[in-house]
Amino acid sequence: MKVGVLAVQGAFAEMKAFWRTQGAETFEIRQLPDLERDFDMLAMPGGESTVQGKLLNDLGLFAPLKARIAGGLPVFAVCAGLILLAEKIYDPGGRGGTRPGKWFGVLPVTVRRNAYGRQLGSFKTVGAFDGTTNVPMTFIRAPAITAISSPEVEVLSEFNGAPTAVRWRGITAFTWHPELNQRMRA
Ligand code: GLN
Repeated sequence: MKVGVLAVQGAFAEMKAFWRTQGAETFEIRQLPDLERDFDMLAMPGGESTVQGKLLNDLGLFAPLKARIAGGLPVFAVCAGLILLAEKIYDPGGRGGTRPGKWFGVLPVTVRRNAYGRQLGSFKTVGAFDGTTNVPMTFIRAPAITAISSPEVEVLSEFNGAPTAVRWRGITAFTWHPELNQRMRA
């Protein structure tokens, strides 16, 4: 399998290393010509979603990637990647409320950025993931999935009763960082 790792910002080196341990071939997607290469899956790393979104736009990567994702390209998304994919963003600040996601907006979930506050901004826990127990889970200024808007969304893991990883069509998305802790199958 060939995995194109989005490498405009954030933890893309860790994402690449993870996919190599899974036996995949990886390459970095940094510029438009990189999209001419053949790949079976797009990996979207953690980082800062606003920065990643802006860079994707500036680099001209946003529209072609959006078309590929809409066309069914499998995606493995972590944290900021999940935020970029989400259909809706819940923002408790200001007047508070839910607005459409500014970016790819395909995954039928609502996310709240930096949902665990300053105290619990980053933490580790252990939980069940997709039928496997005792999976270590690292959360780094993680978003929370506050709502799911399609019965097709499958919840793969939860923390305190809220979903922390989901699968929908070809997309698997995490609020935590699977690439930092273990070998596992997507
Ligand atoms: N807090 C980041 C954001 O809002 C996400 C953090 C992460 O990717 N680990 O984009």
